[in-house]
Amino acid sequence: MPLKRLRSYRKTLAFRLTLWYAGVFAVSSCVAFLLFYTLITSFFRDRTDQELLGQAREFSTVLASRGLEAVKSLAMLEAQAGGVKKVFFRLLSSNGQVFSSSNMSYWQDIDIRDAAIKELLRANRSVFETIAIPNRKDKVRVLHVMIGTGVVLQIGQSMETDSRFIDAFKNIFVITMVLLIAFAAGLGWFMARRAVSGVEAVTRTAQEISGGTLDKRVPVGGRGDEIDQLATTFNQMLGRIQTLITEIKEMSDNIAHDLKSPITRMRGLAEVTLTTGNEIGEYKSMAASTVEECDRLLDMINTMLMITKAESGVHQLDEKTMDMARLVRDVCELLEPMAEDRGLHLGCETLETFPLVGDPRMIQRILSNLLDNAIKYTPSGGSVKVSLSEIDGREAIVTVQDTGMGIPPDDLPHIFERFYRCDHSRSEPGTGLGLSLARALARAHHGDITATSTLGQGSTFTLTLPKTRAPQATAST
Ligand code: ADP
Repeated sequence: MPLKRLRSYRKTLAFRLTLWYAGVFAVSSCVAFLLFYTLITSFFRDRTDQELLGQAREFSTVLASRGLEAVKSLAMLEAQAGGVKKVFFRLLSSNGQVFSSSNMSYWQDIDIRDAAIKELLRANRSVFETIAIPNRKDKVRVLHVMIGTGVVLQIGQSMETDSRFIDAFKNIFVITMVLLIAFAAGLGWFMARRAVSGVEAVTRTAQEISGGTLDKRVPVGGRGDEIDQLATTFNQMLGRIQTLITEIKEMSDNIAHDLKSPITRMRGLAEVTLTTGNEIGEYKSMAASTVEECDRLLDMINTMLMITKAESGVHQLDEKTMDMARLVRDVCELLEPMAEDRGLHLGCETLETFPLVGDPRMIQRILSNLLDNAIKYTPSGGSVKVSLSEIDGREAIVTVQDTGMGIPPDDLPHIFERFYRCDHSRSEPGTGLGLSLARALARAHHGDITATSTLGQGSTFTLTLPKTRAPQATAST
């Protein structure tokens, strides 16, 4: 494996997780081994100590019942029976003088332990020592004990068998540990790779997207785990970004188109007046048209700004408790002359009163837009009906119903989009921003507007506004 690839692996989360996994496993195994090792060695030592004490008791009994000579011959016998390389005995006086011992040729490195004898005399209790013999692997456990007045017994027992067992245990442990740590590292690597593979998929998709392919999605495993949740959330976010970008593209196309038309008109008029106009009257008329077009443009730009502010929640509503019934009546009165001009019957059915918390100017703007459209898109002889009702005293419902040209089913889902205008209604003046603004303002009040329509028969727009606003975050789009 090339060095560079190895280096890049070292930085991965999977590598670090594997290291942690193997490290924690190794440390906990070592702790377990140390505990077990301490337990085994102390068990063997206690067992040896008990054997030594048992023999010392036997010697003490023989000394008391049969005298020193019997003890000496018992020491010889015991040493021969136990094995010269296994046990040894020394009988000493309390000043450390040896007066009898078993065959000590194998044990000549073990001398008289003056410190142990002093300790024995001082504390008057058995003294144990573990002595390592130079150039020999095994150790020896030695007991110093008083078996009678002025008679000290030094008795030693080789710990070779125990050492061999412990060595074998150590070897088996080390081999098992190495194998287990390798296995744990492999398992850890496999698990870590599995866990982070989902994150890698998200990263790969993000990289592909930054390369320009916004329609890519992260595959969702279907396991329902955290990685799946991450992938789902990431995909949802991508979907939202894609929609937003498409909307922004469409909107900028629309803006470019709708701003271009009046500017082209103004330029055309100015050009014609410059080339053919001689009279001051012609220049005055050009100036008046330019002012009119500029007003239209300004109105359009202001409306666009207002929609954006309302949708993003930046627009500050001047809220107060107002009478919705009165507002509906006022808007009807205001637009009554326009309806009359177009030969329409405008009916208004409202409640006596309906207090509501909202921005009166903005709500008036919503109603004016709806009513203006109903009048605009209803041919002469038709009728427009505005009615105000309520649901459980919690919500005001305003419906604006007309018997006009209606909206084709294909257009209906789009009429609230900025600049959207149905083809069949293009003969009427308009910017395609009125309904977008109305809905944005309604949503800023935590209400909404919906529309139903039958082509050729008429449309109904329903505005819903809550009586009071529950404290919420910014309005959604
Ligand atoms: P506009 O300035 O064109 O009226 P709006 O945003 O108010 O813009 O409306 C968008 C489109 O929805 C209109 O162009 C029209 O095609 C359609 N529309 C709105 N209200 C009505 C209605 N009452 N009857 C028929 N069509 C309507």
